[in-house]
Amino acid sequence: MLITHDTRCALDTVVDLVNTAPEDDTTPDGLADVTALDEFVRSHQISDVGTLSEFDLSAVRKIRGRFAGIFAAPDARSAAVIINELVASAGTTPRLTDHDGYDWHVHYFAPGASVADHLAADCGMALAFFVVAGEQERLRRCEAPDCRRAFVDLSRNRSRRYCDSRTCGNRLHVAAYRARRKEAAG
Ligand SMILES: [Zn+2]
Ligand SMILES: [Zn+2]
Repeated sequence: MLITHDTRCALDTVVDLVNTAPEDDTTPDGLADVTALDEFVRSHQISDVGTLSEFDLSAVRKIRGRFAGIFAAPDARSAAVIINELVASAGTTPRLTDHDGYDWHVHYFAPGASVADHLAADCGMALAFFVVAGEQERLRRCEAPDCRRAFVDLSRNRSRRYCDSRTCGNRLHVAAYRARRKEAAG
């Protein structure tokens, strides 16, 4: 499937957004306050966002939960239901653009959209195309026992099982290696 620059950005953004959620009661929320949201918007180069408020913060946290549901969806149909709701509630205005020297592509967020609607529209559509392409299963959660971070598996054979943010795959390899050594030595 063709992944354009903007799709790639939207995917990175939605994965990072989902992963700002606290993993349990003991970990902090990555979007704890408006300042944190402002930082998130800046670092992900989300365009056309005005001054942020508490309202934006709670709206973004709400859609974060919806996006998390897409990564946890067991099949394309249940992912499609959530994506449809997200995109419909955002109210989209598809329009062609060739901004910043990129090839022609479509933006979905409506002019003047809030940051939550912007994310719901553009990230929602980026995920929608995975469902269209029959690639919904690439939207994954890490299989390491103490990690449930979201990631998009862009490997050729869809074989990725672990996120790379905490070297989960590596840790498991090391644990398996040690277990084998112990067995061999014992
Ligand atoms: Zn663009
Ligand atoms: Zn992980």
